[in-house]
Amino acid sequence: MAHTPETEAKRRRTFAIISHPDAGKTTLTEHLLLAGGSIRAAGQVRARGENRRTRSDWMKIERERGISVSSSVMTFEHADLMFNLLDTPGHEDFSEDTYRTLTAADAAVMVLDAAKGIEPQTLKLFEVCRLRDIPIITFINKMDREAEDPLALLDEVASKLQLDPSPLYWPAGSGNRFRGMVELTTGLFYPFTKRESGADYDQGHEDPVPLAQAVTAGLLDAAELAEVTETAELVAGGFKAFDVESFLEGHMTPVIFGSALRHYGVNQLLAALGAYAPPPKHVKAEKAGVDTAIDPGDKEVTGFIFKVQANMDPNHRDRIAMLKLTSGRFQRGMKLKVQNTGKQLSVNAPIMFFASDRELAEEAFGGDVIGIPNHGVLRVGDSLSETGIIRFQGLPNFAPEILQRVRVKDPLKAKHLKKALESLAEEGVTQLFRPAIGSDFIVGAVGQLQFEVMADRLANEYGLECVFEPSPFSEARWLSGTPDKIEDFAGKYRSAMGTDLDEAPVFLGKSAWEINYVAERFPDVQFQRTKERG
Ligand code: GDP
Repeated sequence: MAHTPETEAKRRRTFAIISHPDAGKTTLTEHLLLAGGSIRAAGQVRARGENRRTRSDWMKIERERGISVSSSVMTFEHADLMFNLLDTPGHEDFSEDTYRTLTAADAAVMVLDAAKGIEPQTLKLFEVCRLRDIPIITFINKMDREAEDPLALLDEVASKLQLDPSPLYWPAGSGNRFRGMVELTTGLFYPFTKRESGADYDQGHEDPVPLAQAVTAGLLDAAELAEVTETAELVAGGFKAFDVESFLEGHMTPVIFGSALRHYGVNQLLAALGAYAPPPKHVKAEKAGVDTAIDPGDKEVTGFIFKVQANMDPNHRDRIAMLKLTSGRFQRGMKLKVQNTGKQLSVNAPIMFFASDRELAEEAFGGDVIGIPNHGVLRVGDSLSETGIIRFQGLPNFAPEILQRVRVKDPLKAKHLKKALESLAEEGVTQLFRPAIGSDFIVGAVGQLQFEVMADRLANEYGLECVFEPSPFSEARWLSGTPDKIEDFAGKYRSAMGTDLDEAPVFLGKSAWEINYVAERFPDVQFQRTKERG
């Protein structure tokens, strides 16, 4: 088959895993990579993380707290498909970063802990997927432990997410009595054999047998067979049959049961991703100001930056911008233009992230994610293309929920602080505001932990001992309206005015009440919680 942008884009599956912390995202990531054949032994995902950390000593906090702070992408090829797995940080404080990562995902795997069902963070992330029409495959994990009744779990999916669950498999038991699962369409029974988590997975689990033969094969006892046969029939009648269209439209989720740790159900999940998860779709954009849709098979190379990671190596002050390609055949050395600034850059050292290593990307297609090292030229939300006239809808900046004042302990370093804060804000995880009066900087974040991470990074990467203190402001609003109205408003509220990283005017309010009050008095000015970049 010819390798055209169209055929190549069609074999891309770019997806993210969404879950509540501890549901098993990291374990599943690792086992998907094992199933995909890109790593050989369990334990490599964390080990890779550790290497990176010890090599660059970055994100000490990640190590200390045992949470993953940064999101990255892992690419692997399996069954003639290219999978790009976007790793989304699970801690709730990092939701903003996670939300951004989801803008680059074409599908998502929702991991539920079989004993806990839908947890708060699952719900939040699910809502983002729904907003962006991202189809979801459900993986009910930890079946090797005592689980809730699977029927109750599916009911919870239906009622809490308003999503039709369509089980592809049905489990026999859970915990010590977990025997495996039966594929509802074929009646094949996939036995669960308890394996050690560090075992060699080359062999996989035992081969499936027709359910009726499971007893003679010694996989189930007669009572277990009767029970699973009966519930599987009930389930096949009680839930809608899987319908790809309905899944792609976001109304239905196929459900697979398993145990990531025991490498069970993982091959089935990977197969479902290959079969049902969509290749990259058409993306709405403006071309020279005219509305259009970018087809992944288009010749022109286009894409957008959804994340910037700074200082992976603090000695080099490097910054890697993550580009989700939306069309074309990207080739190393190519020149791309940034739509909003008109800047052109030669992409000579694009990076692809494989599980065990990073490699220079010689070629990439719609659906792929490549890292572009740069020195601050690229920002989150930038649209890149060969012509420079394509503009994707800006990625929203999320409204910061906490505003704090930052102070560097050594006043002689105030200048350095400005530069450091700007670079961290350019990553897009925190926001930086400069009040019109005074010399303080105000940092906005979605959660408290982000300030701790930032203080840690300022110390490690920039040698700046900083303290974050309460600020007089509690909320920020971006102002829009005609320039004269904004100027008029700013003149009257100078002490509450500030600017963001792009010098855009921002109102810094002391309370939601105050913001409502001023907003009512100035109907010609709009007070926005978020700002679209671009
Ligand atoms: P994350 O926070 O979602 O990334 O979760 P982890 O992958 O770190 O898993 C959290 C804990 O659950 C770890 O102790 C895992 O070993 C454990 N775990 C993950 N998957 C399974 C599973 O299928 N069965 C059992 N018994 N434990 C699991």
